[in-house]
Amino acid sequence: MTDSEETLANLSREERCFEPPADLAADANVKADAYDAAKADREGFWATQADRLDWATKWDQVLDWSNPPFAKWFVGGTLNASYNCVDRHVEAGRGDKVAIHWVGEPVTDGVADTRDITYAELKDEVSRAANALTALGIEAGDRVAIYMPMIPEAIIAMLACARIGAPHTVVFGGFSADALASRIEDCGAMVVITADGGYRRGTASPLKSAVDEARTKTDRVETVLVVRRTGQEVAWDDSVDVWWHDAVDTASTEHAPQAFDAEHPLYVMYTSGTTGKPKGILHTTGGYLTGSAYTHNAVFDLKPDDVYWCTADIGWVTGHSYIVYGPLANGVTQVVYEGTPDAPERGRWWHIIQDYKVTLFYTAPTAIRSFMKQGREIPDKFDLSSLRILGSVGESINPEAYIWYRTVIGGSGVDGRETPVVDTWWQTETGSVMISPLPGVTAGKPGSAMTAIPGIDADVVDDDGHSVPNGYGGYLVITSPWPSMLRTIWGDDDRYAETYWSRFRKEGFYFAGDGAKKDDDGDIWLLGRVDDVMNVSGHRLSTTEIESALVSHPKVAESAVVGANDPDTGQAVVAYVILREEFEAAAAADNAGIIKELSDHVRKEIGPIAKPRQIMIVPELPKTRSGKIMRRLLRDVAEGRTVGDTQTLADSSIMDLISAGQTTSTDD
Ligand code: ATP
Ligand code: MG
Repeated sequence: MTDSEETLANLSREERCFEPPADLAADANVKADAYDAAKADREGFWATQADRLDWATKWDQVLDWSNPPFAKWFVGGTLNASYNCVDRHVEAGRGDKVAIHWVGEPVTDGVADTRDITYAELKDEVSRAANALTALGIEAGDRVAIYMPMIPEAIIAMLACARIGAPHTVVFGGFSADALASRIEDCGAMVVITADGGYRRGTASPLKSAVDEARTKTDRVETVLVVRRTGQEVAWDDSVDVWWHDAVDTASTEHAPQAFDAEHPLYVMYTSGTTGKPKGILHTTGGYLTGSAYTHNAVFDLKPDDVYWCTADIGWVTGHSYIVYGPLANGVTQVVYEGTPDAPERGRWWHIIQDYKVTLFYTAPTAIRSFMKQGREIPDKFDLSSLRILGSVGESINPEAYIWYRTVIGGSGVDGRETPVVDTWWQTETGSVMISPLPGVTAGKPGSAMTAIPGIDADVVDDDGHSVPNGYGGYLVITSPWPSMLRTIWGDDDRYAETYWSRFRKEGFYFAGDGAKKDDDGDIWLLGRVDDVMNVSGHRLSTTEIESALVSHPKVAESAVVGANDPDTGQAVVAYVILREEFEAAAAADNAGIIKELSDHVRKEIGPIAKPRQIMIVPELPKTRSGKIMRRLLRDVAEGRTVGDTQTLADSSIMDLISAGQTTSTDD
C-alpha cells in the first residue's frame, strides 16, 4: 500500500500502556479464555450469555440470518424485559437491595433532595404504572413517547411500557417541541409521558408546555400523563391530560407480566444527529437485553457490592442500555442524578461519588474535558477513593483526557492505586458495547478502545473491504451479526439496508460510518467520522489525531479540527481550540503567541502535514445535546458558507459567536 492510496493515515504514536491491576485480573468476571471460546463457537457463546436472563419459553434457534440484513435472535424464545429487570431480583430474595439512589438537583440548606428505591419498591411502582397504562387503553405494540427529566418515574415509565409490550421512544428532555413532535409523528406515539418540569442548572425548566406545543403540530397524541416534579404552573386540557399521581398512585401493585417474543419491539431510539437527520433505531427484546446485560457485567466487571453510576441521560441510548436495561437486568445498585454537573456548585458530581461511595463510573469525554478546563483543584477536594473502574463513551477520548481521568479522578499512582479506564466504542445502532478493553484482561492504551469484546467480530478495512494490516487506517466494520444489533430504521427497511449494509454489501459487513486504525499490535483506535476525514495534499487525515495532539498541549482543554477548501493543498486543516481556564487571560493578551505555540506543537507531535493553516481560540464548541462535537457546522464556518442545519445543536448561539470570531482571528 503506498501513501497515495492510503484509506486513512496513521500519524500519531502513543507509547503509554497500563496493565490490568493484579487483584482485578485475578478475580475478573471475564477472563482471556472468553475470546477463544467465543471464536470457537460464536452462537454457543451468545446462547450462554442469553442464559443470564429468565426466559418464559426457551428459544429453538440462536440466530436466523437467512434474510440479511434482517436478523432474528433467539428464535421462538419468549420473555418479559421488565420481569428480568425487576421481579426476578425480588423473587430471588433481593427485594431489599437498593436499585436506585436517586439524587435530585436542588440542595436546600445543605440537604439534597434524594430518594432510595429498593427492587421491591421498584416492582410495585412499575406494576402500578403498567396497570395505569393498560387502563388508559395502551396495548402491546402501541408506541409511547417519554419526555421526562431524570427522575425515577422516567425509568419506571420505560419499564412499565416494556412490561406491557408497548415500545417506548424516549425523547431527551432538552429537545424542543418541534423535535418532540417529529419523533411522535415518526413512530406514531399515542401517549406521551412527561412531567410539569425538571431541575436544570438551578431552575425549574418546563416540559409539559413543550408537549402542549408539540400537540399543535401532530394529532397522534390521545393522552398525556404528567408527573408533578417541580410544582410549576401548567396548562391543562381535561380531554387529554392526566396526572400521574391520579392514574398511577391509585393503581394496583399486582401485575402479571406477559411474555413476549424475543423479537418483539422494545423501543425506538433516535440517533443524536451529529451527521444529519436523526434515524429511528429499532431494538427488540431478547437479543438486546442479552447484549446489554452481558456487556455491562463484562466491561465493568460488575460485583454484587458495586455502586454504579452512569451520568448519561435516559434520552440517549447510553441511558437505555447502561442505566435501565443492562444494569437493572444485572440487579445493580446505581446512582441516578437529575441535574447538571455544576449545580449548585462545580464539584457536584464528585460530591455525589463521595457520598455514595461510587465504585464504577461511566461518563463522556466531553464532560472530562470540561473538568480539565476548570482545573483539578475542584475534584481534588473530594474523596474519590471508592472508584475502581472508569468508563468513557460517546467520542474518542484524547490520550491526555484519558490520563487526566485515570489519575485525577481515578487516583491512579497514589498509594499504589490503579483505576483502569475502559474506552467503550458503540452506537445507538449497536445497542451495546462492541469494542472495549476488559478491565481484568486487556491492557489500557490512552486513546484506544483496544479490541472487540468476546462474541463481537470487528475489523478495519480499506475501500475494497480488505482487512488493513497493522499500522494502517481505514473503515471500521462489524463482520458478523450480534444479538443487540438494530433490526431496522423504524418504518423504513430500505433506508436501513442502504445506510448500514450497502457500503460493503458483497462482504456482508455492517458499516458504522467511523474511521479507525490498527496499531502495531492490532489494537483499534477510533479516528472520527469518515465524513469528517480531511484530504490534505493527497493524505487522508483524521480529525481525532490532530485534535488529540492539540489536547496534549498543557494549555488546551478541548479542540475540534475540520478540513477547509484550500487552493494549494486541496483541503487544509483548520482548528478550533478551547483553553484551560488558568491560561485564558495570558492567551487573550498574546493571541499570536499562543497560536504559534500550538501550531508548532502539532507539527512536532504528528508532523508538518498536519500543521493547521489556521487556529482559532474559541469559548465553546458546537455540540449536540448529548455533548458530541458537530464538525460539519465548523466546516461551514471555515469555508465561509452559511451555517447548515443546527436543529440538533445544544446551544445555537455558539455558532454566532464562532462565526463572528472568524473574521478577527489571526492566521499563523
Ligand atoms: P447520528 O448517527 O444521527 O449522526 P450519532 O452517531 O452521534 O448521531 P450515537 O449513536 O449516539 O449518535 O453515537 C455513535 C457515534 O459516537 C459512533 O459512531 C462514534 O462516532 C462515536 N463514539 C461513540 N463511542 C466512541 C468511542 N469510545 N470512541 C470514539 N467514538 C465514539
Ligand atoms: Mg451515528
